[in-house]
Amino acid sequence: KKQSWLSRLKSGLAKTSANLNIFGGTTIDEELFEELETALLVSDVGMPATEYLLDELRRKVKEEKLTQPSEIKTALAALLTDLLAPLQKNLEIGRHNPLVIMMAGVNGAGKTTTIGKLAQHLQNNDQTVLLAAGDTFRAAAREQLAVWGDRNKITVIAQESGDPAAVAFDAVQSAKAKNINVVMVDTAGRLPTQSHLMEELKKVKRVIGKGMDEAPHEIILVIDGNTGQNALAQVKAFDETLGLTGLIVTKLDGTPKGGILAAIAKNHPVPVYFIGVGEKIDDLQPFVAEEFSNALLS
Ligand code: GDP
Repeated sequence: KKQSWLSRLKSGLAKTSANLNIFGGTTIDEELFEELETALLVSDVGMPATEYLLDELRRKVKEEKLTQPSEIKTALAALLTDLLAPLQKNLEIGRHNPLVIMMAGVNGAGKTTTIGKLAQHLQNNDQTVLLAAGDTFRAAAREQLAVWGDRNKITVIAQESGDPAAVAFDAVQSAKAKNINVVMVDTAGRLPTQSHLMEELKKVKRVIGKGMDEAPHEIILVIDGNTGQNALAQVKAFDETLGLTGLIVTKLDGTPKGGILAAIAKNHPVPVYFIGVGEKIDDLQPFVAEEFSNALLS
């Protein structure tokens, strides 16, 4: 089972890997460093992290007197693992009852899919889950969610009036009354302007806090790993507005751009709780720096 998602992750990052065949040569020279720079940039590692990795690599080559390109690959994998390690963190459940998780993300990032995956993950860990449908402007979408909730034993709180902050508040009250373990508050992914979106999200956060002290306990942004530097811009913007506690990076099974995690680690580190490695309900995996680094470079 593990092999299958890991291989999907690897093949998703295949373009980088192909470029990194530069390690097949016989000498460590300037050309190798240049090719490496291109490969890292193509996989969306971004300039600051690329420069950092290459500087460290040159230092290691000197210090450890490396002579073989294959040794460079091992050294780079270790450097990348160290760079990514601070992003590795578990989502801890059971600290609050209910634990209130606010989910944010722009449309198309995979937020709805991820909420389903996360709900199942939580249930597998013996948690009861309630979902606040704060992104349901259409009646049809609300009904669909209700059906999904019934099927998966997840209470879905929605409201015709559609005030997302009110829906979130009701959800927290309802979870307390029903002694539910985890509340997931879904939020809008698109509003007329970005400032409207950010204002609405701030309001949802504030109103959740009125329903329960210290809540929301987690504010998780879902980003599409395929959108490269754009994903990094989203991390910055949402973190500045909301104060993110974690990220879930989706679609890493289908992208050569997985280097974006290195860019996040270097430029704006926020813990990565999970990565999305497919469209199915169980295609959600904890982020493990070493595993990821090896997949990126394999
Ligand atoms: P939302 O607009 O953010 O709610 O996005 P959706 O959850 O509707 O997802 C948008 C598309 O991305 C759908 O076709 C999903 O199946 C797909 N998707 C979501 N997560 C993943 C993932 O980890 N891997 C792949 N390959 N597709 C994904």
